[in-house]
Amino acid sequence: MLKVAKFGGSSMADAEQYKKVRAIIESDDDRKVIVVSAAGKRYPDDHKLTDLLYLCHAHLTYGVSAGPVFDMVKDRYLSIRDTLGISLDLESDFEKLYQKMQKGISQDELVSRGEYFSAKLLAAYLGYEFIDSANWVRFNYDGTVDQTVSYQLLREMAAGKRAVIPGFYGTMEDGKIRLMDRGGSDITGAYVAAALNADIYENWTDVSGILMADPRIVKDAKTIARVTYSELRELSYIGAQVLHEATIFPVREKNIPVNIRNTNDPENPGTLIRDNFEGADPDDASLITGIAGKKGFITFSITRSGMASESGTLRKILMVFEKYNVPIHYILNGIDCATLVVRASSVENCRYLIQADLNRDVEPDHIHVSDNIAIIAIVGRKMASRSGSSGKIFQALGEQNINVRMISQGPEELNIMIGVKEKDFNITIDSLYHKFVG
Ligand code: ASP
Repeated sequence: MLKVAKFGGSSMADAEQYKKVRAIIESDDDRKVIVVSAAGKRYPDDHKLTDLLYLCHAHLTYGVSAGPVFDMVKDRYLSIRDTLGISLDLESDFEKLYQKMQKGISQDELVSRGEYFSAKLLAAYLGYEFIDSANWVRFNYDGTVDQTVSYQLLREMAAGKRAVIPGFYGTMEDGKIRLMDRGGSDITGAYVAAALNADIYENWTDVSGILMADPRIVKDAKTIARVTYSELRELSYIGAQVLHEATIFPVREKNIPVNIRNTNDPENPGTLIRDNFEGADPDDASLITGIAGKKGFITFSITRSGMASESGTLRKILMVFEKYNVPIHYILNGIDCATLVVRASSVENCRYLIQADLNRDVEPDHIHVSDNIAIIAIVGRKMASRSGSSGKIFQALGEQNINVRMISQGPEELNIMIGVKEKDFNITIDSLYHKFVG
């Protein structure tokens, strides 16, 4: 049995957190391969080391002394080392890094040192091997990771070993360090789990799993015990933030379950994510899995009588949006009307050009544009097998006098998506939650 465990920034923030991490790892012999983030915040106003390293590079770029910020990074790691009594010479590594900074260092290389030092320290603390991600995560020139080559390299380096691996970075073909997106250690963890065919990918953070709704909106939101990969994709696409969105792809390909756990509450089972839960879903579980949403959308409704019986109109509409490089999030179709939902930011500089092109190419009866639209998705694999979900939604919103601008149900019946005005965003989520969950 192999468990790959990834610990996020808050789990690596100071010596106390390192102790908790070690206790978690040592309590289960199967936790053999560990992936870590850079040290995160110890308290709300604290700084993440990744942010300090970005700042350090900005100082270098603008010719301001980077020394004080660099020392903050160095001191955090030295203090973890000294408090835990780890014997590891970090000083010479820091000295070399400082010299390199004076000569010129890329932003990606400097920022990657956050994860690098975290992993080196934890490896020494656990007595595990340190495997540098510079030696196995291979980026293509387009910024994607070459999974075949990377997996092969990691298998050669890590098979059968107990190891700690830094997240968030890898190298280009020419050996230069390259970072992933912010929050990318989650993705490294998923690559490690997939490469080594882990039985489970544990993602240890500072919350006990994914909540059914944003706790800033729904105060008493419950934790989701089980969620499928598809449901999570729907929820994170529309705004739920727990894992980096791209985390799911590598593990899903290999059908490896993901378990989100809390380093500060290790007994809590957290949230389990897998392909399906057939047979394991308790009958009384809530009809929905979660609710998430995003503001900042705009809709274009194009009406043209006879549209339903002619061909090619939708193509002409889509070509206009393609011409301006605007991704379309959703399309809703009426008999003689098509509504396209796009991010407001993506049409900032071209919304009137789009309208002009639509008028010319589609010759519509009219075009109606609505601003300040929020999209909310109600996600749940069980909605398909039970009736009444849409009824409940309309009832909840009717009771609150919320005007539903649009509603759509995906063919897989995994989600029902509604559009409301942004001002109704919070009340919509809150009332839907309480209608479905109680
Ligand atoms: N340290 C990086 C960040 O703050 C990557 C990570 O923690 O996943 O974004």
